[in-house]
Amino acid sequence: MAKKFLLILIAFCSCATQKKLNNTTSHNNGLTVGGRLFTSVFQQHAAEYKALCFQAYNIATLRLHQAIDQSTSSRPKAVITDIDETILDNSPYAVHRALLGLDYEPTSWMDWTSQGVADTLSGALRFFKYAASKNVEVFYVSNRSEKERAGTIANLKKFGFPYADDAHLILKTTVSSKEPRRQQLAASYNIILLIGDNLADFSGLFDHKTTTERTQNVRHLADDFGKKFIVLPNANYGDWESALYQYNYRLTSTQKDSIIKSLLRGY
Ligand SMILES: [Mg+2]
Repeated sequence: MAKKFLLILIAFCSCATQKKLNNTTSHNNGLTVGGRLFTSVFQQHAAEYKALCFQAYNIATLRLHQAIDQSTSSRPKAVITDIDETILDNSPYAVHRALLGLDYEPTSWMDWTSQGVADTLSGALRFFKYAASKNVEVFYVSNRSEKERAGTIANLKKFGFPYADDAHLILKTTVSSKEPRRQQLAASYNIILLIGDNLADFSGLFDHKTTTERTQNVRHLADDFGKKFIVLPNANYGDWESALYQYNYRLTSTQKDSIIKSLLRGY
């Protein structure tokens, strides 16, 4: 009897989910809003995405060993890491919004981060625990706001990330650029690695730059990737997308879609 009830319940839930998807397809089929469903399914279900995350953190571990062996600095060692799409997976937020036919906006984002329930990316927790075991401090430098501090620390603590405390969580105050925060840490610490999904997580050379400038600067710093800079993949969002719109955050989804179509190369 219980088994029969369970089967009916599963069938009902499946129908309800399908109905929800069908009802929302009319207003989330644009490139930006609907596109986030496609990039999110990659993030949530492609084993290749997990492999890329493991690859990034395996390289980070290798570089951590080398830095420990070769360091001559008397300053304490530290790793600087971003949070979103570097150690935490926010794709459920993107899916939630896209199914409503909506894109990112700050209030709904804070509703999500205040819950402190984002999952971790493959390999992240193991790496940071290992770094801590080697007396390498971890600083979480994020552009989340101070309003998100409690939810963020709760999320990090939920998984047991090391140094998940106020002193090591450095959030955005007045400027989006992370360069001043990195410089401040570098004055006291030997920063051996920077980890992130966005180029602005690594150098001020990438702050608010055009797509052409970003590409040129990536070539200029090519030897640092996989050495001092460890990059996680993020097709869902980032400065790569904002640069397409010349950092105009007031564009509608329709305007963004037409810009993307104007930039795409076919044959
Ligand atoms: Mg990020």
